Amino acid sequence: MRGLYVHVPFCARACPYCDFDFQVGRTPDAAGFVTGLERELDARAQELAEWTCPDEHVDSGMSDGTWSTVYLGGGTPSLLGPAGLGLLGEWLARRFPGAGGREFTVEVNPEHGDPALYSAVRAIGGTRVSLGTQSLELAGLRTLGRMHTPAQALASVAAAAAAGLRVSADLIVGWPGQTAAGVAADVRGLVEAGAEHVSVYALTIEADTPWPTLVRRGKRRLPDSDHQADMLAAAEQALTAAGLRHYEVASYARAGAEARHNLLYWTWQDYLGLGPSAHSARYFADGAVLRRGNLRGLPAWVNDPGTPAEAERLTPEAAAIEGLWTGLRDLRGLDVAAYLRRFPAVTRAWVEARARRQVMRGNLEWVDEDRVLRIAPGRWYWHDAVAADLLA
Ligand code: SF4
Repeated sequence: MRGLYVHVPFCARACPYCDFDFQVGRTPDAAGFVTGLERELDARAQELAEWTCPDEHVDSGMSDGTWSTVYLGGGTPSLLGPAGLGLLGEWLARRFPGAGGREFTVEVNPEHGDPALYSAVRAIGGTRVSLGTQSLELAGLRTLGRMHTPAQALASVAAAAAAGLRVSADLIVGWPGQTAAGVAADVRGLVEAGAEHVSVYALTIEADTPWPTLVRRGKRRLPDSDHQADMLAAAEQALTAAGLRHYEVASYARAGAEARHNLLYWTWQDYLGLGPSAHSARYFADGAVLRRGNLRGLPAWVNDPGTPAEAERLTPEAAAIEGLWTGLRDLRGLDVAAYLRRFPAVTRAWVEARARRQVMRGNLEWVDEDRVLRIAPGRWYWHDAVAADLLA
């Protein structure tokens, strides 16, 4: 079991808070992008052959070698439109036959989410869409610089559900002026329209985005961390009241609707990232992990799709430390036996020693007869701080 991620680097317009890798334009060159992917695969042929080498690669009973999940992210994959998605889907089917058998997700912006697009998603094997709804309040969408309206957001969720796709919707909370009642109304609207998975992100502003300039011009305010915490709490309350379980730091789902591709990251499975700025990870029998990040920017990647911007092989112990952080994102907890199979360089005593301080502080707890270590209920908000302590 391993995942395939394709970064589709096109957006119609830049949202002022976003630091993802994308190129602005309304008519993306889908054929040129697919040619770039083909060239990347050719350039990485040797590396990819090693992924299937049984002597080199760990399976530890955790991988059956199939590309079980596919995730088309971005950027805005739906900007490719039905025809462009068709081209990309044909290429995936040829180069990765059978990929996405357990889950195949396509990110869609609400302004593109109509029956024709969803029919194209289904035609290429898509089973799920992740919708960038972000807010159902016009003030929120305008503050965030989104192109769609609240009505389009709701219609795109309903149309995806009617097309037989599983629906995940994103919410950004903590934008200045948002209220707890507004968050609760957003959640109700999305769930009633058919979302069975909701990802909630606090608005964070990176220095290299347009937002700080807008603040200097008096056109935006910076988010306030206390307000963000209140909005995250409001989202959790509304989502759990609606019957979605908080299963990952930023994600809520009905039973069975958890994001399988994302869970693969939190359970230390291999993933291959293609396209500009995409990341890959491959685990080895001793627990070491090879991480690789592609060149950022469409022109740089098109010029040289085979050369990584970064590549490092973490030692078995460094990988084990990082594995604690990733494993604890899954709020169901980290199964210590599975963890030790993936990271044989460390022992249960090592895990206990690393976790002891956070257990004493009440941020982590042992459950299921001490087989599982998890973030204590209500402490998920401090996941990053707990992780920083574990990594230290
Ligand atoms: S559409 Fe998505 S990827 Fe594109 S700029 Fe907006 S938030 Fe970023």
